Amino acid sequence: MKRQHHKRPRRVLARGDHLRGPRAGALRFIALNLLLFVLPFNAARTQTEVTLAPEVREFVSVDAPTVALTHARVIDGTGSAPKLDQTLIIARGQIQQLGPSASVQLPTDARVIDLQGKTVLPGLVLLHEHMFYPTGRLALFNEMGWSFPRLYLACGVTSLRTTGSVEPYTDLNIKRLIDTGKAPGPKLHVTGPYLDGGGTFATQFHVLTGPEDARRMVELWASEGATSFKAYMYITRAELAAAVAATHERKLKITGHLCAVGFREAAALGIDNLEHGIVVDTEFVPGKKPDVCPAQNDTVANLTKLDIESAPVQEMIRDLVARHVAVTSTLPVFEAFVPGRPPLQQRVLDAMTADARTQYLVARTRAAERKDSPWAVAFQKELQFERDFARAGGLLLAGTDPTGNGGVLAGFGSQREVELLVEAGFTPLEAIHIATANGAEFLGESASVGTIAAGKQADLIVVQGDPAANINDIEKVELVFKDGIGYNSAKLIESVRGSVGWR
Ligand SMILES: [Zn+2]
Repeated sequence: MKRQHHKRPRRVLARGDHLRGPRAGALRFIALNLLLFVLPFNAARTQTEVTLAPEVREFVSVDAPTVALTHARVIDGTGSAPKLDQTLIIARGQIQQLGPSASVQLPTDARVIDLQGKTVLPGLVLLHEHMFYPTGRLALFNEMGWSFPRLYLACGVTSLRTTGSVEPYTDLNIKRLIDTGKAPGPKLHVTGPYLDGGGTFATQFHVLTGPEDARRMVELWASEGATSFKAYMYITRAELAAAVAATHERKLKITGHLCAVGFREAAALGIDNLEHGIVVDTEFVPGKKPDVCPAQNDTVANLTKLDIESAPVQEMIRDLVARHVAVTSTLPVFEAFVPGRPPLQQRVLDAMTADARTQYLVARTRAAERKDSPWAVAFQKELQFERDFARAGGLLLAGTDPTGNGGVLAGFGSQREVELLVEAGFTPLEAIHIATANGAEFLGESASVGTIAAGKQADLIVVQGDPAANINDIEKVELVFKDGIGYNSAKLIESVRGSVGWR
């Protein structure tokens, strides 16, 4: 995987600071057009630096040549115990120094931020993310290219992989807008369009016509800039094999939310990553036919009876570990099907349009009224599987998957994923490690992100409290640093009020 080099954005535009009030929208529009006129000069002058546009600048609360975060509790993402009363020196987008506050000398020009009572942890690196949201009609998804990058960043996600795209050109362009300082958001690793076969339920997907077509799709979208691929439910073994070969020829990775192909079959074909866990593994469904996807109800019902400790399941786990197949945990999307869960949060409802809110509350009520729901048991089996997979040495990754019944949103759902890993039996430090260092490892970016140490990019979350003692404190985000720039979490969240479902 190619490493990306992120230069620390330079403070150029202070104009955004006074663009407030009722006429701010019009002023911003004019400012944007002015910006377009001066762009050629800027581009020539600042080839290697990023200038933040007013639309980004308005969310920045910390941007100084040198920043000192003092007296912080630091959870470094490696899984080791928190270090108390630490000071971090940030400059040129990177962590320059990290050590006990008593021994780190503060540079005279540093902007000092006292973090007494607060915790610094690495920005989350999440692996099952989307730029779209279900509308609940005709299996159509609306692109959330405006609200989701803001929500992800606001909630501490600084790097993510989209895991299937319905508007791949939009996703690639959003990545460019973010990387060039024109839109707020995390660092994106864009996955190509879904590689799905005949029988797909989704109206926006291309349907593969065979192995040649699978190869063609990988070649086309890799050339357009996609850096990973996702096989989907109805892909056949032959199509998957062709997609794996084409992906690996380009030194890229391929994951799958599979159904017609079982986990062990996919592992043998060389897949790098499997999404969701045992909830979607069809290989234990009685009567499963090769290359045929059983009904989802049958798979979930079967899971409720499956013994995770039984020999066949444990053999599957050992097989995935031996073949270095990572598994992405996406617990929030399944929790949303469990009657009465998750706790209803006002911040989630506030971010939605009235239409999306109604749709979700209706779906939630339906799930709660379903007396014979298999999900409470199936969810517990998934928790057990993920714990066993990680304990067996497997690389467990964390993801949000903001789809399902609409209750899982970018960012808020991402924090919920970390909390649910703790419910699965991981310690808070292990859960944070999974959602940071493991993601960076899979993306080949461990040298720059995923943990906190001198020399790494300053991608950090500042929260009130201590997530090592109470994982729910991961929701109390105040600041999120990306490449050394500190973004105001509350302001980003407020900016998308009433937007999710719409844009
Ligand atoms: Zn997904």
